[in-house]
Amino acid sequence: MAASKCPSCENKSFEMQEIQPSGSKWKYQAVQCSKCGSVVGVVEYFNVSALVSRIIDHFKIK
Ligand SMILES: [Zn+2]
Repeated sequence: MAASKCPSCENKSFEMQEIQPSGSKWKYQAVQCSKCGSVVGVVEYFNVSALVSRIIDHFKIK
């Protein structure tokens, strides 16, 4: 499988950066190149699968 690389500088390491775009009420996390900061993806601020697991545990849903 090919390694992911930055489309701008070809660096192969990435980091998460909290962002709140203007006009948005919500925070997001950008997946960005750790070298030049080019954004290659955006995910929701909260880890939704972790939240769902906590809800399932709390309400003992099976
Ligand atoms: Zn880069």
